[in-house]
Amino acid sequence: MNITENLKQVLNELPEGVRLVAVSKFHPNKAIEEAYRAGQRVFGESKVQEMTAKHESLPKDIEWHFIGHLQTNKIKYIVPYVALIHGIDSYKLLAEVDKQAGKVGRTVNCLLQLHIAREETKFGFSFDECREMLASGEWKLFQNIRICGLMGMATNTDNAEQIKTEFCSLRNFFREVKDKWFSESEAFKELSMGMSHDYREAIATGSTLIRVGSKIFGDRNY
Ligand SMILES: *Cc1c(COP(=O)(O)O)cnc(C)c1O
Repeated sequence: MNITENLKQVLNELPEGVRLVAVSKFHPNKAIEEAYRAGQRVFGESKVQEMTAKHESLPKDIEWHFIGHLQTNKIKYIVPYVALIHGIDSYKLLAEVDKQAGKVGRTVNCLLQLHIAREETKFGFSFDECREMLASGEWKLFQNIRICGLMGMATNTDNAEQIKTEFCSLRNFFREVKDKWFSESEAFKELSMGMSHDYREAIATGSTLIRVGSKIFGDRNY
């Protein structure tokens, strides 16, 4: 596996305005260091303990993105340093991030995760749940979080049309939410979608943040 080459290949495909989150979960520090030496600064992790250990031992100018399912009792470990939490999938979680972020005096960047895939197992709000949550208005009182956009995962399939349809539905929902609730917000601009097998479709449908792991670092050993 040549991490530097793989990374450059992906970066070369990125149009302006699209950023790469290099998903380094389950890979050792030395893999991250190689990507770092090649210029990559944004890394994604899905386990709190693993990300925190890596944050402590690796260069401080790395932007750590949390892309996994976040448990409320673990928020406190990441709020001091996390650059973006991609997977906010309930009002309760948002409220808890706000509370914990307040304790450390930070404003934490968050994305709302939408369930767009056919699989039952993937986390996220349905479009209607998200509309309801936003319509309640309670989130507007939070002072320690910043909602920067939306995140979603397409169905794990080879059917490119299916994937595109799902990404389009999220992009359209992004526009709806932006117009209705965030037209005045400069921060609300991120659409996190696309992984190793579907980032090209994601870019074609308006992604601003792709989350690519195995294509850069190779297969993970779970
Ligand atoms: C693991 C993971 C990725 C990266 O997946 P690859 O197929 O290795 O690119 C992207 N997003 C999320 C939410 C993940 O958990």
